[in-house]
Amino acid sequence: MAKSVRDQLRWNGTLPDPRDTPGTKGKAQARKDLASIAPKLADLQERLFANAKVGGDRKVLLLLQGMDASGKDGTVKHVVGQVNPAGCRITSFGKPTKEELAHDFLWRTTNALPAAGQIGVFNRSQYEDVLVVRVHELVPRATWSRRYARINAWESRAVKSGASVVKVFLHISPDEQKQRLLERIDNPTKHWKVGTADIPERHRWADYQAAYLGALTRCSTDVAPWYVVPADRKWYRDWAVSSLLLETLSDLELGWPTPDGLDLKAMRKELVSEAASS
Ligand code: ADP
Repeated sequence: MAKSVRDQLRWNGTLPDPRDTPGTKGKAQARKDLASIAPKLADLQERLFANAKVGGDRKVLLLLQGMDASGKDGTVKHVVGQVNPAGCRITSFGKPTKEELAHDFLWRTTNALPAAGQIGVFNRSQYEDVLVVRVHELVPRATWSRRYARINAWESRAVKSGASVVKVFLHISPDEQKQRLLERIDNPTKHWKVGTADIPERHRWADYQAAYLGALTRCSTDVAPWYVVPADRKWYRDWAVSSLLLETLSDLELGWPTPDGLDLKAMRKELVSEAASS
């Protein structure tokens, strides 16, 4: 049997080549696959939503992490964009506000958890508190190093409450990042995406990779494993994240529910007779 995409991309202790395309037979085939994945994703998301209407507790949390220009926004647009936005809750986590800083680091992610029936998307996440915070020494090592276990416990609670957690590290190469940053600089319609910190942050590449390795190693658990998506090729990224979501939603075996206490026969009869008498 072919290995699932989840099995192929689950963190296994080594980072793949960012240009790799495991599980696909090239761009044309991936595009074709994606065209058939899209309606399946939309159908499953609607089932997820429908099941919550009758008391189901299932939800999905798609968490996206990656260096600048790794494609987090593109993944939201192209992958999450395939399903009904009414069933999604998308949250981007930037520099913490004063209020957020006054709380525990997990406060803001707890508030952003998807409700039953929703697909929640985290564009950046609680992991920033062991990534940027570690690289910039925003808190002492003793503080951030205790956070891995806190994150694991938090994710395990989310899973117990009915969430399927899909954590994706969009893994790009420094060369690809350079090309993408140059494209932004050279294209006036992309200038709004350029930040003064982009290049200084890029110079800390090795520190960020070390921090990512820490997060992947310490927080890839059985209930909430990390998936590493080689992300230099955008078509592969979209195929891979869509496939991860599809496999996750398919596992839930969601049927079409009928609310308790509905007498459909009687309702039908009433409507039909109304039409006949008018
Ligand atoms: P993006 O770069 O994702 O498009 P922004 O321009 O708003 O969005 O950048 C978000 C910035 O906020 C990133 O530099 C990120 O590292 C930073 N950030 C996110 N979470 C934290 C945190 N907990 N502490 C410090 N900085 C953070």
